[in-house]
Amino acid sequence: MNPTGTESTTIGDTPGLEIALLRRGLGDRVEAAEHCDGCQRTALIGERVYEYEGGQTRCALCRDRHRDSPIDSRIVHGPAFGHSIRILDRRPLKHVA
Ligand SMILES: [Zn+2]
Repeated sequence: MNPTGTESTTIGDTPGLEIALLRRGLGDRVEAAEHCDGCQRTALIGERVYEYEGGQTRCALCRDRHRDSPIDSRIVHGPAFGHSIRILDRRPLKHVA
């Protein structure tokens, strides 16, 4: 306990470097994430998003409200995909005679 009787866990007492690192981390995550152009929501990892002509992206909830049919769809991956997650091919080997 310090002399003023307050805990030193408020944002004001956090060193600038910690705040900067926290902000940078959040910024990276937001930039990497997929956004829905219908509801402006950040798509969840594992969620399917639909791409329309003109580069618009819609989540599954907004897809039904969109007149056109999507030209493409994909699953949203986390920022670690391709770095720490590897897809292993566990299918049995085919022996070609
Ligand atoms: Zn949406």
